[in-house]
Amino acid sequence: MDRGNRWQLVWPAARMFPVKKRLRPVVIAITVLAIGTVIARRLGYKVGGNTVVRCRQGHLFTTLWIPGVKLKAIDLGVARIQHCPVGNHWTVVVPVRDADLTDEERRFAAEHRDIRIP
Ligand SMILES: [Zn+2]
Repeated sequence: MDRGNRWQLVWPAARMFPVKKRLRPVVIAITVLAIGTVIARRLGYKVGGNTVVRCRQGHLFTTLWIPGVKLKAIDLGVARIQHCPVGNHWTVVVPVRDADLTDEERRFAAEHRDIRIP
C-alpha cells in the first residue's frame, strides 16, 4: 500500500478534496479543531470566542478561547495554562458552561477579562 492509499484510509475525504500531500496533515488538523469547536459549543461551552473560564483557585474571568490558538497560553485541549487576572497568578483554567453560572458569577466574569489576544 502506498502513502496515498494510506491517507485515504485515515481520511476518506482526502479523495474529495485533493490537496498537496505535504499539506494534508495541516488540513486534517484544521478539520479536527473545527469539529472539536462545534462539539464543545453543542455541549454548552462557549469556546471559539469570549469564554468564561475558572482557574484552579475558583476565580472566574472571561478570556478569548479559540481551540488550537495558543499565543498566550499552553493549550491542553479542554484545559490550559494561563495567567489569571483575578488572582494575578499563573494557573490551569477550564471553560465553564454558561448554564452552570449564576447571574452574579456571569457578571463577575464579564468584569474580569484578560488581555485581548488569543
Ligand atoms: Zn485565579
